[in-house]
Amino acid sequence: MIIRFWGVRGSLPSPSGFSELKEKIVQAVELALKAKPLPEDAERFVETLPDRITGFVGGNTPCLEISCQERILIFDAGSGIRKLGEHLTPRPELDIEEELRGRAKAGLPGAAGKAASPKRHLDLLLTHTHWDHIQGFPFFAPVYDKDTSITIHAVNSRAAEDGLRAQQSTPLLFPIHFDELPADIRFRALTEEGLRLGPFAVDFMRLPHPGGSTAYRVRAFGRTVVFATDYELLGDSPEVNRAREDLRAFVQGADVFISDTQYSYLESHSKEGWGHSNALNVVEMAHASGVKRLYLFHHDPSNSDRKLYDMLEKASNYSELLFPGSGLAICLATEGTAIEFPETPGGAPSHRPHNAGSRRRRE
Ligand SMILES: [Zn+2]
Ligand SMILES: [Zn+2]
Repeated sequence: MIIRFWGVRGSLPSPSGFSELKEKIVQAVELALKAKPLPEDAERFVETLPDRITGFVGGNTPCLEISCQERILIFDAGSGIRKLGEHLTPRPELDIEEELRGRAKAGLPGAAGKAASPKRHLDLLLTHTHWDHIQGFPFFAPVYDKDTSITIHAVNSRAAEDGLRAQQSTPLLFPIHFDELPADIRFRALTEEGLRLGPFAVDFMRLPHPGGSTAYRVRAFGRTVVFATDYELLGDSPEVNRAREDLRAFVQGADVFISDTQYSYLESHSKEGWGHSNALNVVEMAHASGVKRLYLFHHDPSNSDRKLYDMLEKASNYSELLFPGSGLAICLATEGTAIEFPETPGGAPSHRPHNAGSRRRRE
């Protein structure tokens, strides 16, 4: 089972700029100047630098892939789903403009000039339809492939369909109407029984967020992954306490917990009602639920990499202060990070940070 982050940013895509690159270069040079003896091999020295200097957290909005035995589950269709689409449908000659203008109507299968690819199926599970969670969908290459079928799962499948259709209303918002997409796209409402999708058992719970959001729990080969983004649990009203207890039980014993931590502790109180969490409260929940590895996710678009790594450090210090030696691992979700579990019970996971996605075998 592989978990891969294709988009980790909340609210709005936020690409890194020169100032961020310059800051990383300055940090690298400072470390080089302090090194004793001075490094002589630049490449070898760069390989010793931490991820916070050699990589970017990433600016694409939420998209998570969990795959195993050729079965691919996709969680949310933020702008990160575009890169996942290129990975799933590698077409070096793909011109998205050409695609948008002509190929949708033609419903051409597979790669341009190539034979039709075999039928394939994808499952897209939406947490909710806020724009940052669906905006990448019209740029997801498999929707332009008539040999692909996609089932879109959501608590409210009608709202999911309305949201995806609305952002592809022609000609005002997009040049291609949803009905013109060649892929076979169907909507399915989640039911309390949950889902069985290949080797995956998936269940869900509703989260407190403006308009509602959905947490997913995915189990396979004795491993449990929980993805909970866009939720707020501040205060101690009976409703909040109940929701906190429900989420605690839902996350119980997870090997990996991927959680909204958009705000700092202070920000989350000044932005009460905006629907997001802070890392300190999430660390408390992770400990109370016996989580093994926590990923901080849905980063605020205004936060630089430096600020995000500072928030990670604060969360780790808080965790160590409250629960010394607990063994809870806390990481930043960064674009391209892959977590791989062996498909046998009990095997240790591997964690490949930054840009690992670009080294991934093309299937
Ligand atoms: Zn969001
Ligand atoms: Zn939202």
